[in-house]
Amino acid sequence: MVRILDGAAAAKNLRMKLAEDLAAEKLSPGLAVVLVGDDPASHVYVRNKARAAEEVGMRSWTHRLPASTTQDELLALVGRLNGDPQVHGILVQLPLPKAINTQAVIEAIDPSKDVDGFHPVNAGRLSLGLPGFVPCTPQGCMLLLQDVWADVSGKRALVLGRSNIVGKPVAQLLLQANCTVTVAHSKTQDLEEECLRADILIAAIGKPQLVQGSWIKEGAVVIDVGINRVEGAKRLIGDVQFDEASRRALAITPVPGGVGPMTIACLLKNTVESARRAAS
Ligand code: NAD
Repeated sequence: MVRILDGAAAAKNLRMKLAEDLAAEKLSPGLAVVLVGDDPASHVYVRNKARAAEEVGMRSWTHRLPASTTQDELLALVGRLNGDPQVHGILVQLPLPKAINTQAVIEAIDPSKDVDGFHPVNAGRLSLGLPGFVPCTPQGCMLLLQDVWADVSGKRALVLGRSNIVGKPVAQLLLQANCTVTVAHSKTQDLEEECLRADILIAAIGKPQLVQGSWIKEGAVVIDVGINRVEGAKRLIGDVQFDEASRRALAITPVPGGVGPMTIACLLKNTVESARRAAS
């Protein structure tokens, strides 16, 4: 019987643990979330992040800026947040409007407050195996995976997608955990063959059900990061054909209710960690 990895329950446990830690350590972390423009999905994500922060006992501030915001105005806000000792984590919700240089904004965030882990300093530290902020979705993937196999040493892991946000950092984490890692992408020749070899499959592509269930190795663990809104579909759809994959996998994450809730819980975890560092 396949095990459905309940990300909502795992995220709730993590949030409860964080709330206990905050009370015990008398910490008061602050998370500043910046949203530019009116992308409806971003508004939902930002609301969920702010609510989750407050539920565990953190302070949170949401800065909602119009789509007409200039790069200089956004950089000035980031600069103020960098200098504010009450703010331990800064998150600029992506995507940003086209007129703004996203990389410049990411690089303007103080790496010690970069709880998304996207700053080149944190990306570099991750690739060197040094402590730093690890991006939230990849962390969430690893927590769900290691709930099935605490030790993944020697397993063949396939990461589908090579984005800076998910694919590359999750590949780094799998490597650190001693997996044999393959990263596939849009130019990969035979995706089916790569999938059939994988003990661990992490799909972060953004194409609904691109990974067919018949491509899953018997007994594999499947972590589906994809969030696809499909016209006519009542709910969000992942990158993996869930029903057929479930018949072959040992464990699989659902969409929604898998990786998504873990992403937010790991953001809170990073913010608590930042407050701890600032306090010590
Ligand atoms: P992205 O668009 O930046 O990257 C997609 C990657 O998929 C690229 O590296 C591309 O090479 C690869 N790709 C495209 N077509 C492919 C194909 N046919 N075969 C193999 N690889 C292919 O996307 P992203 O930001 O990494 O996000 C990926 C998905 O994960 C999206 O659906 C996104 O919404 C979702 N996501 C979910 C969470 C969460 O919290 N659950 C967080 C971040 C992203």
